[in-house]
Amino acid sequence: MHRLATGLLLALMAALLLGIPVVSSAQVREVNVYSSRHYDTDDQIYAAFTAQTGIRVNLIEGGEDELIERIRSEGANSPADVLITVDAGRLWRAQQAGLLQPITSPTLEARIPANLRDPEGYWVGLSKRARVIMYSTERVNPADLSTYEALADPQWRGKIIVRSSSHVYNQSLMSSMIEAIGPDATERWARGLVANFARRPQGADTDQLKAVAAGEGDIAITNTYYLARLTKSDNSEDRAVAARVAPFFPNQGPGDRGAHVNISGGGVVATSRNRDNAVAFLEFLTSDIAQAVFAQGSNEYPAVPGTPLDPVLASFGSFREDAVNAARYGANSPLALTIMDRAGWR
Ligand code: FE
Repeated sequence: MHRLATGLLLALMAALLLGIPVVSSAQVREVNVYSSRHYDTDDQIYAAFTAQTGIRVNLIEGGEDELIERIRSEGANSPADVLITVDAGRLWRAQQAGLLQPITSPTLEARIPANLRDPEGYWVGLSKRARVIMYSTERVNPADLSTYEALADPQWRGKIIVRSSSHVYNQSLMSSMIEAIGPDATERWARGLVANFARRPQGADTDQLKAVAAGEGDIAITNTYYLARLTKSDNSEDRAVAARVAPFFPNQGPGDRGAHVNISGGGVVATSRNRDNAVAFLEFLTSDIAQAVFAQGSNEYPAVPGTPLDPVLASFGSFREDAVNAARYGANSPLALTIMDRAGWR
């Protein structure tokens, strides 16, 4: 683990030791958290929250779509108070299914930039991930790269590698394109991109990075944390992949919108019986210490501006982010799916 993370964890543990409250009342205060994140560092944040507030955290972990389905099937009897998951498109789906409730929190509004929160308060971003161009350092000159749009140029025929359109990460990227350039230009772009595919979409983001390293194509589109994870891996084959691929942050030109950024985030479940504890929990996740540890556990960017960055992510360089509200990723996703389907992106 990096020194920054170690220092933050020590600070968390100190807070834990100093802050243990005297809980003598018979009433147990608790919050039931359904999370699709599986990081030991998250457990330490939750312990610090309990130490500071006396509120016990009961954690249920599961897959992203599995947890949403579980809350849905539990219905009014769901014990869930908080849903933590990845991708604004997925939080939007949970919201559309009536599984979340709106909250107002001056703390969340002050800490989290408005574009990373649902305008109606149904969910809030807690960390950020950039979905960018990943290029072969052996076969691509980064001077030839510029924008997402330019990946549709015939120059890249047979060179582009990306996962299936069925994955929410690509749907959210497409939704951001629809927002930026409109549906018609997005469809033309999608057709050009598909024409440039090196292979039929398959696998997850890490598989795309491995395929670029192996020479199956020259350019992938993936989230940055997958490259960070390979860079830090104990496995030398992973590190060899990372050494052959570099991130390029697109759409950085003067006046351009910036690279596509999505979130990990959370919301309060509609049927929550511990609403105040749930809000306090989300607020705690935006505290200085929790922010750095939360984002570092998943190699993501913290959502609260000014939070220290993971050293490997920092080494990727700073960049301008597309500041579109993440709620648009969900709202545009049905159209995004239609366009990808029509363009032949399977
Ligand atoms: Fe992911």
